[in-house]
Amino acid sequence: MSSKQLPEVGADLVLTDGRVITMDPASPLAEAVAVRDGRIMAVGTSSEIAQLAGTKTESIKLDGLTVIPGFNDTHAHMDREGLKAQRLSLADAQSIAEILQRIADVAAKTPAGEWIVTMPIGAPPCYFGGPETLTEGRMPTRQELDGVAPDNPVCIAGIFANWGAPPGYTALNSRALELNGINRDTNPRCSGLEIERDGSGEPTGVIIETNQRPFVEFDLLPAVPRFGLEERIDGIRHSMQVYNAVGTTSVYEGHGLGAETISAYRELWEKDELSVRVALTLSPAWRDIAEAKTIMRDWLGHARGRGMGDPWFWITGVHIAYGGEASVADLARQDLPNTGWSGFVEQAVSPNEFRDYCLAAAEHDLRVHTIVGDDLQDLIPALVHVAEHYPIGERRWVIEHIARARQEDLETLKKLGVLVTTIPAYFIWKGGAWYTDDADFGESVVAHRSMLDLGIPVAAGTDNIPYDPFFTMWVMATRHERHENRVLGPNQRISGMESLDLLTARGAWLTFEEGQKGMLSPGQYGDIAVLSDDPTSMDPEDLRNLRCHLTVVGGKVVHRDL
Ligand SMILES: [Zn+2]
Repeated sequence: MSSKQLPEVGADLVLTDGRVITMDPASPLAEAVAVRDGRIMAVGTSSEIAQLAGTKTESIKLDGLTVIPGFNDTHAHMDREGLKAQRLSLADAQSIAEILQRIADVAAKTPAGEWIVTMPIGAPPCYFGGPETLTEGRMPTRQELDGVAPDNPVCIAGIFANWGAPPGYTALNSRALELNGINRDTNPRCSGLEIERDGSGEPTGVIIETNQRPFVEFDLLPAVPRFGLEERIDGIRHSMQVYNAVGTTSVYEGHGLGAETISAYRELWEKDELSVRVALTLSPAWRDIAEAKTIMRDWLGHARGRGMGDPWFWITGVHIAYGGEASVADLARQDLPNTGWSGFVEQAVSPNEFRDYCLAAAEHDLRVHTIVGDDLQDLIPALVHVAEHYPIGERRWVIEHIARARQEDLETLKKLGVLVTTIPAYFIWKGGAWYTDDADFGESVVAHRSMLDLGIPVAAGTDNIPYDPFFTMWVMATRHERHENRVLGPNQRISGMESLDLLTARGAWLTFEEGQKGMLSPGQYGDIAVLSDDPTSMDPEDLRNLRCHLTVVGGKVVHRDL
């Protein structure tokens, strides 16, 4: 046998001369890591690990950069990011003239009759301020838009809930108004929407929305093009690249996804194109408890228990909302399969119904995921009731978006044994001003310190605002709110190490994958991020400036900037 036929015994990838933070308490620090067959082969000193290199091994010297397990963004809304690139950007436009020029440029290349849809006015990713950021301090009128795109319907989109802060402003030209059937007699069906009119009662083309969760698309814009399956697939392709570029290797979508969004992920999985491991919860479109019981019984076998899939694509449980408006949910269902920017189906569930839905889900062994916001104390009784009959802790039910919570309710969560996920960028940074009048100045809002001290299994997510985990780590460690940069609930700040833990190791519980991912120890998935600095020892104020230089998923390099 010639030497060429000998089996290759070396590692596939070797990273040396780094500062390796393994998140493995048994062996927390190292200098180097080797990956083989998609999993961590060994962790150790640079000289030990260098010896595992064979002739086919890719070896990368890191010059002291920090190595961590890839981020597990446990409330990612990843599908949305790539969709943004499919619409004309108005980013950095300073005036209406600039906006009109951009639309004119696109109109010149767009066949007559085809839609031109833009992203909102303002600076991404949040678009705060909208038209106030323009020299004129207002939206373009229909006449101005007609002037640059007479042959194309034009829609300047308002903000989506997660990005900005209401009010949101949509602007349409005359063709767009006509195609959507909006005239002087049109009235919105949902509250929180206003069709702006001129002195003679004619629509100006501007629609103002004050709802936290914008609804204009479903109520007033039936003719504006939706994201279809192909757009969602392309969007996720783009999303995965940018999520990989910040070190994210796994996402958990506990807010639930509509069937079309799940289909998009499924197609990418079938084509072996996933470069982020995805775990997806179902966002149901049932109308009432009777329909829910039938669907749970007949159709959701695949989502029961731990769920179904493989380490790249996993379907698990359902999202049951608490609250919501029935009229809004009705309109949203009529627009299915479109789910707009959210990617999930709008629900309206009263407190009594919530208990019934949870009991039915428990009966069918469907893990429930619930968005609680500030409502934890209201839904605790239902959870306690269900827990008297079913082991919801063992089954790892998930409480999400936790914001203001009383200590006694956190203690109940601990007793119930349920998992908790947080979206710090949303409630502490973006929405922090909602809580600065609280007597405890926000100490009970996204109370990471209290939750960790109680031993609650908690993990964090970016909520796609923005999608980089460094910003979320910075928020967890500093708790700055965005309006006045005050520190919201300073006693709830956690260390850089704990922030990292909430975005890496702890997320594995959600998919029953502890021991499989979240740590750099032999046998775990080869999911790795190489960072510009060490989040566990640097000044917490600088966490948001971290960068990712290399990302490896399943042993494969998916992002490299070295
Ligand atoms: Zn969410």
